[in-house]
Amino acid sequence: MTLHTTGFAAALDLSSIPTDLLIGGRWREGSTGKRIDVLDPSTGAVIAGVADAGEDDALDAVAAAYEAGPAWAATAPRKRSEILRRCFELMIEQREQLAALISLENGKSLTDARGEVTYAAEFFRWFSEEAVRLNGDISRAPSGANRIVVQHQPIGVAVLVTPWNFPAAMATRKIAPALAAGCTCVLKPATETPLTAYALAALYAEAGVPDGVVNVLTTDRAGPLVSAMLHDRRVRKLSFTGSTEVGRKLLREAADTIVSCSMELGGNAPFIVFDDADLDAAIEGAMIAKMRNGGEACTAANRFYVQRGIIDAFSERLAARMGALKVGPGYEEGVECGPLINRGAVDRNAALVTDAVSRGATVLTGGQVIERDGFYFPPTVISHVGPDARMRNEEIFGPIAAITAFDTEDEVVTAANDTEYGLIAYVYTRDLARGLRVSERIEAGMIGLNRGLASDPAAPFGGVKQSGLGREGAHHGILEFCETKYIAVEW
Ligand code: NAD
Repeated sequence: MTLHTTGFAAALDLSSIPTDLLIGGRWREGSTGKRIDVLDPSTGAVIAGVADAGEDDALDAVAAAYEAGPAWAATAPRKRSEILRRCFELMIEQREQLAALISLENGKSLTDARGEVTYAAEFFRWFSEEAVRLNGDISRAPSGANRIVVQHQPIGVAVLVTPWNFPAAMATRKIAPALAAGCTCVLKPATETPLTAYALAALYAEAGVPDGVVNVLTTDRAGPLVSAMLHDRRVRKLSFTGSTEVGRKLLREAADTIVSCSMELGGNAPFIVFDDADLDAAIEGAMIAKMRNGGEACTAANRFYVQRGIIDAFSERLAARMGALKVGPGYEEGVECGPLINRGAVDRNAALVTDAVSRGATVLTGGQVIERDGFYFPPTVISHVGPDARMRNEEIFGPIAAITAFDTEDEVVTAANDTEYGLIAYVYTRDLARGLRVSERIEAGMIGLNRGLASDPAAPFGGVKQSGLGREGAHHGILEFCETKYIAVEW
């Protein structure tokens, strides 16, 4: 296997990070014999090559998870809880190294990467606490004839498929509740960012996660491999985070074997600012909601709706803040906006701006591709974006803030709901009654009311409409990996 290390990658000791498949506690090459290049989006250079799994590897991973299942499910909840807690502690101890790795393969700034490691680790802390509180209930049947005993049992082998934008957190948000519930799993991380998944897999073993409980495989043929796993009757759960388009395909695949599905899909978040909002707070919130992860987040503010009375002040101030952000390699201290994930993402962001401008929008800052090695697009603010612009209807997934004016509450609620997505919305107003009223009317699974950040392991994360099915985090997250068992008892 070839490892082409840059100076920075060498400082990270990239050679200590596993790049082979992890199946049944053993690291091994993929059966295709090929390696998949991993790029540094800050330079475009190849930094590593990971194993490429074939269908037989995927089914071996399912077999390993299936064999490890009964012992893990029978392990005392307290013991499982302690192992999860240890995963949390090790992640926090290794935060700097993990953050550097995330930044290297994903491109996000070190500040964002450190935030991600903490967020990702918190899922282990939260679900270590949930593991010992998986309570069922007991009641008397209305007829009086018997008792109704309800308990939650582990659903079985889970296939977990994750995207590249949060290489650590999207994986731990699934692995932690799966393990807390007593399930074993096969993780298929995104091809663009596999190193974090493998580094974490080594950490789980160090924390005491038994062989076969977490299996990890990379492939450049995600479709056929995931399909093979979903058609294996030992698999009982699919938890997917990624685009709505791929989510739809996987729901169809899962139908063949009626596999239980949790789906965290795309978003098109409105960010609504009423005239009476605290403008300072709205600008701060906008910077977080738009620029966390350089805009490459499902929760990223995609459509700014600003009431006419403050639109000029809001747009000017947002453009000044966005235009002042330091752009560069994510892993350089002080950089606030790293590169996008790949060349395709840069081209797509540029095309969205061209499209909006051709329909009458005005660029206030940014808007032009930055020509240098790596995949850079500048923080961009664009105003007078019409309802037919592509960036109104598609996920931007980049550092572009698209602003439109509105006049009335009804008008903005209608506009906000005019999308197939329904993941999150942000609302800024000093009038709490209006804030809550609008929050209830917006079709989204989550609302940031005077807050630009809502993600929290203790809260139910998820979308409505075509943004997803099910919830991650909170108590809901563990129930996604459980079957409800009802026992009718007479005594
Ligand atoms: P993607 O859908 O292209 O890929 C996600 C994962 O699915 C990757 O591991 C990929 O290899 C795999 N995949 C691709 N095609 C597949 C197929 N045919 N069968 C099985 N697996 C397949 O998404 P992405 O580009 O990696 O991530 C960006 C998307 O993820 C955005 O739409 C974003 O909104 C969404 N996302 C959602 C959430 C959420 O919690 N709702 C969180 C993060 C990202």
